[in-house]
Amino acid sequence: MSKPIIAVVGRPNVGKSTLFNKLIGHRLSIVEDTPGVTRDRIYAECEWLNKEVMLVDTGGIEPKTDDIILSQMRRQAQIAIDSADVIILVTDIKTGVTATDQDIAMMLQKSGKPIVLCVNKCDAPGQVPADFYEFYNLGLGDPIAVSSVHGHGTGDLLDECFKHIDFDRPEEYTEEYIKVAIIGKPNVGKSSLVNKIAGEERMIVSDIAGTTRDSTDTIVDDERGKFVFIDTAGIRRKSRVDENIERYSVLRSYMAVDRSDVCVILIDAVEGFTEQDSKIAGYAHEQGKACIIAVNKWDAVEKHGKTMQEYEKKLQNDFSFMSYAPFLFISAKTGQRLDKLFELIKYVNEQNCMRISTGKLNDILAYATARVQPPTDKGKRLKIYYITQASTRPPTFVSFVNKAELYHFSYQRYIENQIRETFGLQGTPIRMITRQRG
Ligand code: GDP
Ligand code: GDP
Repeated sequence: MSKPIIAVVGRPNVGKSTLFNKLIGHRLSIVEDTPGVTRDRIYAECEWLNKEVMLVDTGGIEPKTDDIILSQMRRQAQIAIDSADVIILVTDIKTGVTATDQDIAMMLQKSGKPIVLCVNKCDAPGQVPADFYEFYNLGLGDPIAVSSVHGHGTGDLLDECFKHIDFDRPEEYTEEYIKVAIIGKPNVGKSSLVNKIAGEERMIVSDIAGTTRDSTDTIVDDERGKFVFIDTAGIRRKSRVDENIERYSVLRSYMAVDRSDVCVILIDAVEGFTEQDSKIAGYAHEQGKACIIAVNKWDAVEKHGKTMQEYEKKLQNDFSFMSYAPFLFISAKTGQRLDKLFELIKYVNEQNCMRISTGKLNDILAYATARVQPPTDKGKRLKIYYITQASTRPPTFVSFVNKAELYHFSYQRYIENQIRETFGLQGTPIRMITRQRG
């Protein structure tokens, strides 16, 4: 199930990013380990009492300026309303309640979404500042005193947010549907592709009686198979928020990735690879999703004999951090290779949930270690006792070893490649975990 979303909203300088960073703790560091991929610090996992939510810092979506305009604030609030299950409105005890706070509070309240009011910079624990009660005037219920710098009150804040979240909500779609996120920059052709795929009689979830979610996902259920194409950016109901704000469109892609099994990463054939593409693809990779890189608008590229091979070679370099992902050159406009796209989606989805028996893994291990001896250090040699698959989506392998620090990255990569050589696992990342024994 995709994780519930909590969005943080508030004026500039009230401490939104400080709060965001405090709440996510060390969580972003994993993400920054993928070479060649940067991340916007606007969206990250937050764990509290063994439950996980995703946190959005709406303040990070647009560049920070001192005299931020009210329309920009409203846009951030709108993003929160569109995407979050709960919204935290951050205010500042030092400035007290301002006219902008009132304006945003009113707008949030009208949305009907649960709002939790945070009064930040209450740095002295246990003391309630005199001005605190003023915040009741915002009409959002009991304010919660927080110091984002020190961390006081953040537990109470999360407790309050969690009261509004149903962690046992059922899956949106049954297992038999493959959930596909078509992700990419604005204008790369996401909506054209979904429209072409679904054709005239496209089924939208919100058209189906009895669905509760305010979703514009598109369902395909025919001879091609059962698929749900996840709505990325208000694909049909063009969202009220301008897609062209780069970080906003990146955020929507991150959210779509979280709800998906398979990610189709669209690249604009005419424009070529950009940094934004690597951010989105990098996130799909880190989340362990099956991935396909589809170069769209292939009809618009002038071709000579080797155009495709040359293009693919360059992309292999751009996407070297996910060398397992297959490429496909398509046109949403003409429909070129869309039948192949469906086949690939089914194929990489199967790879992403492949299970390999411990017996087979250890046959590979025996062969691999006989061919290339495990590394040694100061006379001690790495021993890998055995490997077993712990989970799927993505396939995750646990190696039990004598000394973890001897199991260098390069040798892990070698074992990973041996597994891939035998089982394919094309289109899916795999994870290697090391456990030390004795
Ligand atoms: P944003 O614009 O809302 O994201 O605000 P920032 O997180 O960038 O914080 C603005 C300023 O307020 C920075 O100088 C922070 O160090 C400071 N700040 C944030 N939280 C607290 C807090 O709990 N106590 C105090 N004293 N200062 C804080
Ligand atoms: P989105 O913002 O990613 O949803 O992109 P759209 O689907 O709105 O497409 C943006 C523009 O690219 C539109 O003018 C489309 O007609 C055009 N477009 C989309 N797919 C193709 C394609 O395969 N070939 C060509 N030549 N143009 C395309």
